[in-house]
Amino acid sequence: MQHRTEDYDLLYKLVLIGDSGVGKTNILNQFTRGEFLQDSKTTIGVEFASKNVTIDDKTIKAQIWDTAGQERYRAITSAYYRGAVGAMIIYDITKSLTFENVDKWMKELKENADPSLQIMIVGNKTDQKHIRQVATDCAIAYAQRNGVAFIETSAKDGTNVEEAFKNILQQIYKSAK
Ligand code: GDP
Repeated sequence: MQHRTEDYDLLYKLVLIGDSGVGKTNILNQFTRGEFLQDSKTTIGVEFASKNVTIDDKTIKAQIWDTAGQERYRAITSAYYRGAVGAMIIYDITKSLTFENVDKWMKELKENADPSLQIMIVGNKTDQKHIRQVATDCAIAYAQRNGVAFIETSAKDGTNVEEAFKNILQQIYKSAK
């Protein structure tokens, strides 16, 4: 009889990037723990958290890395990207500057990550529709021009958080087949 030492078939490393304050830590907490923290920066973020997802009868362990604030010092190290098969570039739909900077993050990925890396752009904080600054159509057009996936989420009420991770994991799984 074979003994399985691990509880998954495939391990995928995902990295979360984007400007400080867009909700990276909360998206990670919402997905892996079902939690939202109104003031998460009072503690230093964990380096990564994991969660298993089933795709095609396979158990995929998503190991999701958070910058833990490194982006504030423009000091994301290449180790952060090493081995990553997927990246979510997150912006805040209520702050256009964070969307303008998505382009900078795309360049950062081109310079530091594997070319086969699957990318998803994520517009977060949709619960704040009344102060929206970035139109969904603009973001969709940008994602299409760059050939990457797109979704809008709210880490606060949980909208689309699970879908975002499932979609990117499926994309990675398909591209690896
Ligand atoms: P990070 O710097 O990108 O990791 O961002 P954080 O996850 O620390 O979030 C920054 C701030 O935005 C915190 O005060 C969060 O409570 C808040 N925040 C994060 N996601 C959402 C969201 O979906 N909706 C709302 N209203 N606030 C959010």
